[in-house]
Amino acid sequence: MNVIETTAELRRILAPVRSQQHIAFVPTMGCLHEGHLSLMRKARRLADIVIVSIYVNPMQFGPNEDFDAYPRTFEADAALCEKEGVDIIFHPHNLYPADGLRISLKVDELDNCLCGAARPGHFDGVVTVVNMLFNIVQPDIAIFGEKDWQQLSIIRCMGDDLQMNIEIIGEPTYREADGLAMSSRNRYLSPDERNLAPRLHEVLQYMRDAFEQGESSAAALIRQGRAKLADAAIEPEYLEIRDANSLQSVTTIETPCRILIAAKIGSARLIDNIPLDLPEHAMETV
Ligand code: AMP
Repeated sequence: MNVIETTAELRRILAPVRSQQHIAFVPTMGCLHEGHLSLMRKARRLADIVIVSIYVNPMQFGPNEDFDAYPRTFEADAALCEKEGVDIIFHPHNLYPADGLRISLKVDELDNCLCGAARPGHFDGVVTVVNMLFNIVQPDIAIFGEKDWQQLSIIRCMGDDLQMNIEIIGEPTYREADGLAMSSRNRYLSPDERNLAPRLHEVLQYMRDAFEQGESSAAALIRQGRAKLADAAIEPEYLEIRDANSLQSVTTIETPCRILIAAKIGSARLIDNIPLDLPEHAMETV
């Protein structure tokens, strides 16, 4: 496994292999856990060369967010990548010009809701850095987690709208045994908060059960979910049901949808989502 820190070096190594070998790319911010590893395993199954980037992107953090505190665990991350058969870790120190970017990407509409509403500019930062990384790596495929559903949707749109020749693949959310979605931010949880955190997924499942038993009104499902959260003394930042593809809000569930939640548990802002599939679409059981 190679660890590469500069764009020039990565380009030099990839130039001779590009035409013959299929390249899969997994962008991450490090502090790797099983969720990230599941993306790498998917990449390993689908491609000849697996490249993982580890870069904590300053542009996607707001002024009062956890950029400085974000856990950086490069040595442990590199050992995990090696074990998963990753070929190259791209670990740049900085991807931005010293005077800042003169040109960046902007998300329209899709970031007015959910995490985008609470984190202004966050998804502009995400698409700008992912676009940069795509230009550097030029992969055939790129794997992203469904845990960050809005991010995955926005990146798919970026690929379509900007005519990128990269297949975007979503990988289901990897969970702890008690259902908590794995996240680098779970390490911020105290033991009591860690015990409370699986309630987010429980509430999503409870809402999906109600849907499967015949409730198709989004408002009714959200009311039931909010009541369950209140029982656990959790005040969500949002709890919403949206069309899985367009992210538009829905009143009745008639197309494949997602239930999405964000909540602060202690100082950790956690997110999760699960699918609401109509019977003919039911394929996933996360
Ligand atoms: P991050 O380093 O947290 O920005 O995440 C890097 C990639 O890993 C993103 O595509 C995330 O959606 C994905 N990811 C993070 N947590 C999980 C998880 N629990 N299951 C699956 N994918 C995940």
